[in-house]
Amino acid sequence: MGGMKTDVKLIDENGRRIDGRLYNELRPIKIEAGVLERADGSAYIEWGNNKIIAAVYGPREVYPKHLQDPSKAVLRARYNMAAFSVDERKKPGPDRRSIELSLVISNALSSVVFLEQFPRTSIDVFIEVLQADAGTRIAGLTAASVALADAGIPMRDLISGCAAGKIENTVVLDLNKDEDNYGQADLPVAIIPRTKEIVLLQMDGDMETDEFHKALDMAIDAALKVYELQREALRKKYVGLAQEEDQQ
Ligand code: ADP
Repeated sequence: MGGMKTDVKLIDENGRRIDGRLYNELRPIKIEAGVLERADGSAYIEWGNNKIIAAVYGPREVYPKHLQDPSKAVLRARYNMAAFSVDERKKPGPDRRSIELSLVISNALSSVVFLEQFPRTSIDVFIEVLQADAGTRIAGLTAASVALADAGIPMRDLISGCAAGKIENTVVLDLNKDEDNYGQADLPVAIIPRTKEIVLLQMDGDMETDEFHKALDMAIDAALKVYELQREALRKKYVGLAQEEDQQ
């Protein structure tokens, strides 16, 4: 969140943003379930210019053993940005940001998985950001929950999300990279769609209280649209599998 550069025009006189969207429009989103052979579950998401893959392994035995929990499974998500995912080559490996994102994503996913059904095991979720353009934590989390469902892991619901924010003193949905860089606030939100319980909420920058409420409402409405796309991706995968079986 920059806030310091004010000479970049982010909304034109017709209310269009630099990529042509209106204030309340999502970027185009495509989700595909079951893209990897070797993982127990997987998903690929394109969300605007973000490209992210999520892979799930487990439930499986935990190593090292002292990390086992005798009462439930341990869900460990690892968020990683590929060195080639951003303009300037990113130093490979975990940094403070990716460690924090891994933790908040693990917590969000843990809220929907029935962990107590798999004591002493781990469920490992890998989120690999191949191309980043802002909004990767939510896009990654969205893909990860589809990958968990694709792995057949029992869950209360998927996790869906979207960010909203503030640019040019206007509350807008789903900031892209330029808007994130030069805008005033970014508010990523993730929910359990069925109950609308919030499982991730973070904010960079600053907004008025009423702007915050508006941003939160917009983000939740958009998350419910993302939910439909997630479910559609899972349906497609299973309809595809059923057709393959019919042909055999
Ligand atoms: P999110 O991707 O969830 O919006 P941030 O707000 O931290 O997370 O990052 C916004 C965007 O900034 C990222 O999507 C990415 O395009 C870029 N970015 C983040 N970290 C780095 C980094 N270490 N090097 C280069 N670009 C980065």
